[in-house]
Amino acid sequence: MQRTLSIIKPDGVSRKLIGKVIKKLEKSGLKIIAMKMLHMTRAQAEGFYAVHKERPFFASLTDFMCSGPVVVMVLEGENAISIYRDLMGATNFKNAAEGTIRREYATDIEKNVVHGSDSPESAAFEIGYFFNSFEIVK
Ligand code: ADP
Ligand code: MG
Repeated sequence: MQRTLSIIKPDGVSRKLIGKVIKKLEKSGLKIIAMKMLHMTRAQAEGFYAVHKERPFFASLTDFMCSGPVVVMVLEGENAISIYRDLMGATNFKNAAEGTIRREYATDIEKNVVHGSDSPESAAFEIGYFFNSFEIVK
């Protein structure tokens, strides 16, 4: 069993895509074991994306991520990290496979609707960033 962190980004929430994203998650067989809505401060967004702080898009990305509420979830299942990455599609929606969340709903390389952890190490950091043990159902 593996866990991964999912975020429906501010563009997904403001464009009323929460239900559509969750429908795809539930169809994929992944189990949602934690979920909440929150609005990050700039400092919280910068802390979350600290691995990208040297990238040219860091300021714009963290601006975007604190521009409105997000929905954060913990997903569980066998190979949850890669199953969810496949369901999201490529970072750039123009390269994302047919049927993926980003291919269907993203409008921009930055405003790409969803986030997903990329490794067991980042999943552990990202889940702990948003949830304590009482907020994750067993
Ligand atoms: P992913 O979210 O697919 O794991 P990355 O971790 O590389 O992608 O990047 C984190 C986020 O930063 C992306 O989801 C996207 O919102 C934004 N981003 C990535 N690359 C670019 C870029 N070249 N220009 C603008 N924003 C970008
Ligand atoms: Mg990433």
